[in-house]
Amino acid sequence: MGNFSKRDYAYQAEDRSIYFRINRFADYGHLAHLNLEELRPSGRVRSDEYEKESIGDFALWKAWDEEDGDVGWESPWGRGRPGWHIECSAMATRLLGPEIDIHCGGVDNIFPHHEAEIAQSESCTGQQFVRYWLHSAHLLVEGQKMSKSLGNFYTLRDLLNKGFTGREVRYALIRVNYRLQLNFTFDGMNEARQSLLRIDEWIGRLRELAGNSQADQHYEPAQSDRFFAALDDDLNISAALAELFEQIRATNRAMDNEKLAAGEASALLRWWEEINHVLQLQSEEENVSAGVLALREKRAAARAAKDWSSSDAIRKQIEDLGWIVKDTKDGQKLTKKVP
Ligand SMILES: [Zn+2]
Repeated sequence: MGNFSKRDYAYQAEDRSIYFRINRFADYGHLAHLNLEELRPSGRVRSDEYEKESIGDFALWKAWDEEDGDVGWESPWGRGRPGWHIECSAMATRLLGPEIDIHCGGVDNIFPHHEAEIAQSESCTGQQFVRYWLHSAHLLVEGQKMSKSLGNFYTLRDLLNKGFTGREVRYALIRVNYRLQLNFTFDGMNEARQSLLRIDEWIGRLRELAGNSQADQHYEPAQSDRFFAALDDDLNISAALAELFEQIRATNRAMDNEKLAAGEASALLRWWEEINHVLQLQSEEENVSAGVLALREKRAAARAAKDWSSSDAIRKQIEDLGWIVKDTKDGQKLTKKVP
């Protein structure tokens, strides 16, 4: 039917939907390592979810049909709705511009979704759409794929209700390289808790030893280079964490034997700041100033006296200092306000 575009990348078919002509885009299939010559495109596919075997022209705009009910918009091509792929290209280019440095997604989105995003965006802008793709593997739960029928998935709220902190959940989720399947288990949650406790104890010991002493400029933590080299290697977080814990082991041993100087402890704390800048593992409440802590106590007293207006006023004061206070069953919790 109609020759829809000057560049001929898209056309309107008999079903009135607009399709992207994949043969017009030489790189189609590149991201998913598909060879179009071998695969022999099979005409058109109306569904957004299709297998590599049925590779074909995909819909940019779907003409309205009965299944769509009252979902539909008027357009120059008649009533219909955008295809799933075009929604992402439209949002990304509108909000981030024609070129993106890093695009993330699950491995299941490589084909057809991300392939389609590239084809339609680059055909439109003539620029490279994405420089790096980061595709993460699927999360398993207790060794199984998550599914509704197995009922084996947890929301963040479920985990918080079981008594885990957000920090523990975060640690459990970041400690495996994004390309590997992460197996979420409650044993793993407990390990995360233990790991954080070890870090917290280590920092406590270092602080005590360091006191007010200046960081020793000549002291370089033995694992420092290896920690950052691991992260530079495609974000190999598990290797990086292994280096961190090796450093913790070694310095704990040195402290046991009174072989770590105060200036070295102070240098290690500075090193930790660098690490925490990347991993954000330090307990947030550790960074709360004495002034905010005093206000929180004052607020606790106001609440105990059911003086709600003072309680609200103090909450506002705390917020002005950069912290959000939440009332939980374990008392008031402070979280840093996002600027
Ligand atoms: Zn998308």
